[in-house]
Amino acid sequence: MSQPQTSVNDDVSQIYEEVSDWHVNTGDQKVVAKRIKGRFRLRKWLGMSVWLIFFLGPYIRWNGHQAVLFDIPNRQFNFFQLTIYPQDIWMLSLTLLFFAILLAAVTSVAGRVFCGYFCFQTVWTDIYTFIETKLEGDSPQKAMKFKQAPWSLDKTARVLTKHALWIAIALITGISFAAWFTDAYQLWPEIFTLQAPLPVWISMAVFGVFTYVFAGFMREQVCFWLCPYARLQGVMYDQDTVLPAYDAERGEPRGKLKKGQQEDETKGSCIDCKVCVAVCPTGIDIRKGQQEGCITCGLCIDACDSIMDKTNQPRGLIRYASYKELHHDKNVLAMYKRPRVIIYSLILLTALSGIIYGFFTLSPTEFQVIHDRQPLYVRLSDGGIQNKYTLKLLNKTKQPIDVRYDVIGLDGATIHGMSDKITVQPGKVVPVTALVRVPDDKVQKGLVPIEFKAVVLNNSAISTSYESMFMAPE
Ligand code: SF4
Ligand code: SF4
Repeated sequence: MSQPQTSVNDDVSQIYEEVSDWHVNTGDQKVVAKRIKGRFRLRKWLGMSVWLIFFLGPYIRWNGHQAVLFDIPNRQFNFFQLTIYPQDIWMLSLTLLFFAILLAAVTSVAGRVFCGYFCFQTVWTDIYTFIETKLEGDSPQKAMKFKQAPWSLDKTARVLTKHALWIAIALITGISFAAWFTDAYQLWPEIFTLQAPLPVWISMAVFGVFTYVFAGFMREQVCFWLCPYARLQGVMYDQDTVLPAYDAERGEPRGKLKKGQQEDETKGSCIDCKVCVAVCPTGIDIRKGQQEGCITCGLCIDACDSIMDKTNQPRGLIRYASYKELHHDKNVLAMYKRPRVIIYSLILLTALSGIIYGFFTLSPTEFQVIHDRQPLYVRLSDGGIQNKYTLKLLNKTKQPIDVRYDVIGLDGATIHGMSDKITVQPGKVVPVTALVRVPDDKVQKGLVPIEFKAVVLNNSAISTSYESMFMAPE
């Protein structure tokens, strides 16, 4: 359906000039995208701001400790008041599952919005190109002119400043990554005094180099050639997935517009200005249909909307739309009726329930009793029976705990061979040997249940117990 073009604004004469010498990328070269304002640009900034958590998160303290810390040397993960040990790794697995399915669900509903608004590759590239355009030109012409200009003091200073800022961001990225694994406040003095441990230097080097090269030089080539997610997206889409799409029915036949030109019924709404291509961070032409390189950032929508405003046409020639909507298919399914949305939602709910259950039921201690089988029991000189056990209590709290062990549930049983108070340091296990004796007149034949109690003397609320067996001859 063709839209009439009326009362063309004079601004349109500049549109073609702006992108006239702009190289249209075909996926084989680095893109220097034109920056444009708009609602999707604003959303991109908001999405990118989530990464502030990555930079600032390690500096949040909780009860005098780093709130979120992957403590590899002590094999624990601290999350506010919780300490998660390898025994509770299922919670981290569920969390990973949750985010993986969330990614698939969001892709199924709205395409690669993760790539367009959150992905570290596109976010860092956006910051790097922002610096580049500020220093080397904020329009395609200025950028070209800067590149072709002979070397001067000013050009050298600008190029050096750009690379200095890029390297600084790359190093801060590496340091911020390391800060999640060590005390963030100690990290900076350790770096400046060259006292930081080797993994920190490795992290800085690896993240620094990859950030600098990927965001500064490779840019969307990483999305094209290295990212596996781009290859998987096809299986997550269906005809109800909404994606930035060009409304060819309304836009075609496209045709250039001349200054002062009035309504032309024979032409579509697209004035073939290519601004949508110039702003695309992956350099694709959305008018050719959906392509693998599209990260669904919506910047081409902003671009085209601005052109529609300038040419007094309704917005939405490029818009978020599903295949069905574009092709007037009446069977557009509501989101809650789409099978894959239902399946993804069920998995998400299951994973989320597991995570919430884990958060509320994680024990501050882990108690284990191992029955010694060599021998299974010993007959004492007074006729009583003795079994030997190894008791292991893991202290998952942040304070030392004093523990006393008792046995219950077996008439006449007493515990021997250990002191009345055993101190267990945070994050540690203190294995102790326990000898449990039952006098001759109380001995029951065969296997009898017995319960070990670990009474925490300085915090009775976290006392715990373990059910085991006592063995006597048949
Ligand atoms: S789709 Fe919009 S931005 Fe792209 S060339 Fe046509 S009018 Fe210009
Ligand atoms: S085609 Fe549009 S939505 Fe896709 S990457 Fe390019 S600018 Fe973003």
